[in-house]
Amino acid sequence: MVTNKEIAELIFPDIKETIEDLERKYPKRDLPEGAEVTRFAPSPTGFLHTGSLFTSMICHKVARDTNGVFYVRLEDTDTKREIEGSGEQLLKQLHLFNIVPDEGYLGDRQVGKYGPYIQSQRADLYKVVIKHLLEEGKAYPDFASPEELEEIRVKQEKEKLNPGYYGEFAKYRHISNDERKERILRGDSYVIRYKSQGDHNNKIPVSDLVHGDFEIAENDLDIVIFKSDGLPTYHFAHVCDDHFMRTTTVIRGEEWIASLPIHVQLFKDLGWETPKYAHLPVIMKIGENGNKRKLSKRLDNEAAVSYFLKDGYPSEALVMYLMTIANSNFEEWIFEHKFEHMEEFKFSFSKMSLEGALFDMGKVNFFAKEILGKKTKYEIRDMAKAYASEFNPQLLSLIERDEEYFMEIMNIEREKENPRKDYEKFGDLYEKISFFYSDLYEETCKNGLIFNEKFSNEVIKEVLTNIKNRLSLDQDEQSWFGNMKEIGESVGFAPNGKLVKQNPDMYRGSVGDVAEMIRIALTTKKNSPNLYYVMKILKKEECDRRFDNLISKL
Ligand code: GLU
Repeated sequence: MVTNKEIAELIFPDIKETIEDLERKYPKRDLPEGAEVTRFAPSPTGFLHTGSLFTSMICHKVARDTNGVFYVRLEDTDTKREIEGSGEQLLKQLHLFNIVPDEGYLGDRQVGKYGPYIQSQRADLYKVVIKHLLEEGKAYPDFASPEELEEIRVKQEKEKLNPGYYGEFAKYRHISNDERKERILRGDSYVIRYKSQGDHNNKIPVSDLVHGDFEIAENDLDIVIFKSDGLPTYHFAHVCDDHFMRTTTVIRGEEWIASLPIHVQLFKDLGWETPKYAHLPVIMKIGENGNKRKLSKRLDNEAAVSYFLKDGYPSEALVMYLMTIANSNFEEWIFEHKFEHMEEFKFSFSKMSLEGALFDMGKVNFFAKEILGKKTKYEIRDMAKAYASEFNPQLLSLIERDEEYFMEIMNIEREKENPRKDYEKFGDLYEKISFFYSDLYEETCKNGLIFNEKFSNEVIKEVLTNIKNRLSLDQDEQSWFGNMKEIGESVGFAPNGKLVKQNPDMYRGSVGDVAEMIRIALTTKKNSPNLYYVMKILKKEECDRRFDNLISKL
């Protein structure tokens, strides 16, 4: 009679290492009490998803908060779905969001003693464990053909039974080792399945850092652990890798809760300590029909972090926003801390809501304005250049015309107690500041300027002529404003809106209308940074030139 050991040897004749060898090779980490080892385990199947950024941010945070280790493992066992180069891309993007692993797969290299950190390079390690399971009779080769599997599926569907390969349906679980040997020798193709001892009617207790303690049906499926391409499945790789990489807390998306019974069972059967689990809620969005749905890569721009990078958002803004989703007390905390030093915030799984949060672009914009408002003009220049070099050559050449001038523009009402928050991203900066550059201002003027239609060209002309001749820039902002009011009054504009309301027949409008005319004349826009500083930067001569040009055309 053929033994389990002979089957194991027949399948993996070259595997000489044992589980004990692996235990010695990857010893328990020597870390202080309470230190957590976390990992982000992306598959190289595309660009970084906002949901994955959320997960990785939390993994990173937990490791940092506990003086632990955060590492990245590349899960590339699904070779069919792999997209060339996306592993490197993912790591690059993580870096841009300041999520820097201590260890593991770093894009262009691997660092650490628990590697390799790319699953396809770990094939032999998985084989050692599978060989062990085969020897113990806890796994077996399954020769079922696609047709046989289809037959099972149809039968189960017809009889309304749970789907899958288990119990009486697990045909090759029940054949003899003699038959297994014969089939292997004659070259039948096979996968290797785990021999579950579980019963679907049993409930087992599980524990989750986000969801608390709950019960779940025990696994009774003989899942595939080793595919015919020589690579393991996710379930099996997860258990082996998180054991031998000594992960203490597995942080992953909620979609994996359903497979938790499989994972718990595998850990137990292998005699390994089960790590802690935290299954994170998914990020949602209100769909077209008004119902909540998952943020979708296909439908939603904001589902891919590349959207925020291409649009030039400060990466901190997205991370800060995601932390408000992660912990309900974070928002208040970051307000109190003036949107700074978020690394000092203590994250806690217990403050995570179970419901998937709705993605709120308005809040991202809000944080972005706060963050950019806090930067110095030098930081703004560096950030803008870094962004523009990668995504926006037009903006780059604008900045490079004269960096001092660019910084002067960006420094309007910056670097003071309550800086103005004029900008939220660099993607629309070119459009916002181009009027500071004469040639670009002229370009826009060609399309015509749109003034408030309440005022005739004659009135506009009169106002602008007086402003041009009488408004001095050689005074402080307050006096300048007084000067503007005075000029306005002399041509029939009240010094404030209230007076106009009280005596509508006495005035053509208010000083606000005067300021708007000046603003449109000089900037082509209704909104701009503080007009006083705009004029100071443009200088008297250029302002006059713009006024004259316009007046001559009105
Ligand atoms: N590779 C899996 C995924 O991308 C990782 C899940 C996990 O973190 O264990 O979904």
